[in-house]
Amino acid sequence: MQKHAATRLHFDLRLELDGVMKSWAVPKGPSLDPSEKRLAMQVEDHPIEYNTFEGIIPTGAYGGGIVMLWDRGTYTHPEKTGDPVERLRTGYAKGDFKFEVHGKRLRGSWVLVRLRRGDPDKPAWLLIKHRDEFARPGYDIVAAEQTSVRSRRTLEQIAKGKSRVWNSNR
Ligand code: MN
Repeated sequence: MQKHAATRLHFDLRLELDGVMKSWAVPKGPSLDPSEKRLAMQVEDHPIEYNTFEGIIPTGAYGGGIVMLWDRGTYTHPEKTGDPVERLRTGYAKGDFKFEVHGKRLRGSWVLVRLRRGDPDKPAWLLIKHRDEFARPGYDIVAAEQTSVRSRRTLEQIAKGKSRVWNSNR
């Protein structure tokens, strides 16, 4: 998960599947409160190497702005039967994408539910925390966690300090 100060501040959820990072822009960021459904606009698949990027995307380039690595970890299917990758693939294809994350900040069971509106190539989904021991009703993790999970820097510090610059060939 990256926090991205571009034209508008948003979070980018990226989940590796079949050699790419499936990607969603989440304007309000994730919520640990199961009653808070967060809009997640699917964007194009990103290359795997992008998932560790933190730094600056030049103004004028696609996604120009500051990128913070906000969370990272692994994920799997929440149910322990069958082939997890096959189950993830099936859930994604059906638009009922259940997953369990093992991040530093995000944990436990989640679902992305695809909505039947919008551009079929860039559909809208809802990101929802399931009720489990990692759910925290009423807690605002986006407000509480303002720094990089890797460098502990704020967006401002990333902007002003020594930072990598992403050279896109788009
Ligand atoms: Mn973004």
